[in-house]
Parts: sequence; C-alpha cells; structure tokens
Amino acid sequence: GSTIGVLGGGQLGRMMALAGRAMGYRFITLDPTVDSPCGQVADRQIVAAYHDIEAARMLSEQSDVITYEFENVDAEVTELLMEESYVPQGSRLLYITQHRLREKQAIESAGVKVAPYAQIASSAQLREELQRLGTPCVLKTATGGYDGKGQWVIRSIDEADEAYEEISRAGTELVLEQFIDFDKEISVIAARSPRGEVKAFPAAENIHVNNILHLSIVPARMDEAVQQEAEQLAIQIAESLNVVGLIAVEMFVTHEGELYVNELAPRPHNSGHYTMEACKTSQFEQHMRAICNLPLGSTELLTPVVMGNILGQHVEPAMDWIMQPESEQVGSGITAKLHMYGKQEAKDNRKMGHLNVLAPSVDEALQWIEASGIWSTKE
Ligand code: ATP
Ligand code: MG
Ligand code: MG
Repeated sequence: GSTIGVLGGGQLGRMMALAGRAMGYRFITLDPTVDSPCGQVADRQIVAAYHDIEAARMLSEQSDVITYEFENVDAEVTELLMEESYVPQGSRLLYITQHRLREKQAIESAGVKVAPYAQIASSAQLREELQRLGTPCVLKTATGGYDGKGQWVIRSIDEADEAYEEISRAGTELVLEQFIDFDKEISVIAARSPRGEVKAFPAAENIHVNNILHLSIVPARMDEAVQQEAEQLAIQIAESLNVVGLIAVEMFVTHEGELYVNELAPRPHNSGHYTMEACKTSQFEQHMRAICNLPLGSTELLTPVVMGNILGQHVEPAMDWIMQPESEQVGSGITAKLHMYGKQEAKDNRKMGHLNVLAPSVDEALQWIEASGIWSTKE
C-alpha cells in the first residue's frame, strides 16, 4: 500500500494513522518529540523540528502522499514538499488559514458572513476602529493563536492602550473583531476530494471552558433549519476554497439564528471526534478518503452523542472510571468509548484523550457525563 507522510505527530495525526492503517496505508510522521502520539502508531517517525528542511525532504522521499495535522506549517517546508512530493491539499489553504485577515477575506469571498472586523496597526487606529465597530470587540493576533491565546476582549474604549500593548507584544499583525453576542458556538467539518465530491458532517454544538473545548454535543440543540444552513455554508466554503481533505468551520449562532464564521482549520478538528463512533464514517477516515481521492464515506449520524475532552486534570478520574466493571460504567442504553492519545505527562489543560458518550438522546448523555465523576460539575 501507499505510504502517507504526516507533518506533525500529535493526536490528530495519531487518529489519522489509526483510521488509515485499517484502510491498508502505511504511515510516517515528522515530529520533534520522540515517541509522539502519531509516532507510536505509525510505521516510522522522523524526529526533527517541523521547520527542518532536511527532515522534510526525508519525509517527502519516503512518502507517496503528504498531509499535515496542524496549519502552521513553515512556508519554506510547504514549498519544498510541494516541489518534491504529492501534497493533495496544496499550499493555498495553509496560506489562507495561517492568517486571520486572509482567512476572513476568503470566507467573505465564499459569500459567508464573518463578524465585522478591521486590521489594526497602531493604538490610535485601534481607538478609531473601536469607535466605528463599537464595544465589546476582540483584539486578536493575526497568526499563531490557539486556545484563546493572543486575544483580548475590549469592553470599553479605556482598555484600548493596555490591550494594544499586550497583544502587539507578539509582533504579528492584529485584527479587531466585533464581539458577537452569540447564543451558541457550533462547528461543521466538511470534506472535499480532488474530484470535487463534497460532504459535511452534522453540526456540533461546542461548549468551551477556559477557551478550551470541553464538550461537543450532536445533534446541536438548535433549530434544524439553521443546522442545515450551517452545513451548507461549510460546503460552500469548501467549494469556494477548492479544499482537498477536511475543513473545520467554527461558527457563532446568534439568538436570531444568524450564522457568522469565526475561524477555519484545514484538518481534522477536536469537535469532530464524536464522528469516531457516532457517524458511519469518522472524520479521520474521511480525511484519508479525500486526500487519496477515494469516494467519500457517508456522514450520516447513527446516534446522539456527546464528546468530552479528557485534559490532564481529568485523567485520574477517567482511569478510575475505566477500572469499574462494565455494569457500573454504563447506564441504560448508554455506551461510552474512551480514546487516549498515549501522552506521558498529564499536565493541566493538556489534551490527553476524549470520551464519546452515545445515548438515546443528548440530554441522557449529558446527565451521564454529570454523574460520571470524570469532570467536576462546575465545568
Ligand atoms: P482555537 O483553539 O479554537 O483555535 P483560537 O485561539 O484560535 O482558538 P478563537 O476561536 O478565535 O481562538 O476564539 C476563542 C473563543 O473566543 C471562541 O471560541 C469564542 O468563544 C470567543 N470569541 C472569539 N472571537 C469572538 C467574537 N468575535 N465574538 C464573540 N466571541 C468570540
Ligand atoms: Mg484557532
Ligand atoms: Mg477557535
């Protein structure tokens, strides 16, 4: 079978490799950490920095197809890989999603709404744009942010100088966005293959704690017509950007049922882990199908599901739970499937695994999660 090279050895690469191996592919990953989550399940790992050109060359020499599990791939590495091997996802999608301004422009070109925004180059301009957009607004670094890092919610214009000083410290361009008073946050993952086939997974309702995903609830508890619109918007974006592989689309839903796209991720997404047991095809299998130009699989939802992230602080109670006899673990009609990523150090807020709770209804899954003792109820 063909060998798939994965740039990045984290849990997303691991779950790609687990799905792809079942389809007969071999895997090689590049990651600086020895015995990375993906390296543990791949055939081989090249241990090197992500921006190491020689290592990238080795990866391309040993792979038939190259993919990545994070979007901040070094431009020079991308260029080399594009020249020396087959990268079905291309470089444009990375270029766009690495920068919030480019990303917003691409979303708008697809005919999809984003929160009103402005590029910010000075604190004077920040004040001006705050006047125009009104408060609250969010000031964000244009590149490199994750888990809400590099962001400041500006509630009044008096905070402008302090916010500018703090966020401009990163040395990247800045974006100011109107703060959307959302009812819910949702995400839709769409897949597109080189032959132009496109499919979206059902929208997930996402609950964050400390800006880190805590729960994904599917079906989302909202109007079905809005869910369908969200899935349609994700497909529209995938087509407009000529995506190959997966595109995860994070959206805000207002109280009036309007949709605004927050950001994109050109890869499997944490909020899509529910698909592993709850859909006919998982997001990881779908990614493999898309990049290998196979027909896409059905995205049909088989059961209501709630995915809960297991962070470092949740590992102990999760292990206590898994040690119980099966009869104690599950309620009536409930199945909970634990996935762990093989990481050694359970640091606070580090993503160590996740649990998919399949139930007759999302309310029952949520009740089960409350009672499981894995997450403190405050979360
Ligand atoms: P991720 O880990 O998802 O990549 P990130 O650091 O890129 O996170 P965003 O997704 O842009 O950050 O923002 C983090 C969270 O902050 C959002 O999920 C949302 O709750 C809130 N947020 C960001 N921008 C806005 C906005 N314009 N209006 C309202 N809430 C916002
Ligand atoms: Mg982000
Ligand atoms: Mg986000």
